[in-house]
Amino acid sequence: SDALVLFDGSNLQQWESAVKAGEAAKWKVENGYMEVVRGTGAIKTKAVFGDVQLHIEWSSPTEIVGEGQGRGNSGVFLQEDYEVQVLDSYESKTYSNGQAGSIYKQSIPLVNATAAPGEWNSYDIIYQAPAFNKDGIKVRSAYITVLHNGVVIQNHQEIKGTTEFIGLPKNPAHGPRSIVLQDHGNPVRFRNIWLREL
Ligand code: MG
Repeated sequence: SDALVLFDGSNLQQWESAVKAGEAAKWKVENGYMEVVRGTGAIKTKAVFGDVQLHIEWSSPTEIVGEGQGRGNSGVFLQEDYEVQVLDSYESKTYSNGQAGSIYKQSIPLVNATAAPGEWNSYDIIYQAPAFNKDGIKVRSAYITVLHNGVVIQNHQEIKGTTEFIGLPKNPAHGPRSIVLQDHGNPVRFRNIWLREL
């Protein structure tokens, strides 16, 4: 009852473009879900957050197109910079720290719990934001616990910094920030998104 509903299946009022300031989110909404529209860019919550419990459900395309990182790729970014990977990892190989439920390029999920293409997956995420001192130096890492379809796949895992495609994590200071969903060019769907601030 104390959850903030970020998407109830009807509209994107809580979201905006993450790539063009002030522009509306341009993803498709139908049948109770939102779907990535290729090329429209990532979307982010209008509100900003620190420590949260986040519930989000996602579905990769029923029709399998591509392979590895090109198959049903999206992502849930905590505080805009820390990606929990969304990927069709159902009987599909990719590098281990880039599969579904990975902290991208940092932490391999304990198991691969991905449902078949077209079926719904859930992520339940408990996230503690990093802390920075007045000089902007990180004094405590972010920590994250992730349940994928009810199975613990990240257990109070340290996030070492930004989840870079190439290169070491970075640790720029920040305060509360948005939750971002990635446009990786694949028509991934999301529904039933809510959070509780901790
Ligand atoms: Mg991704």
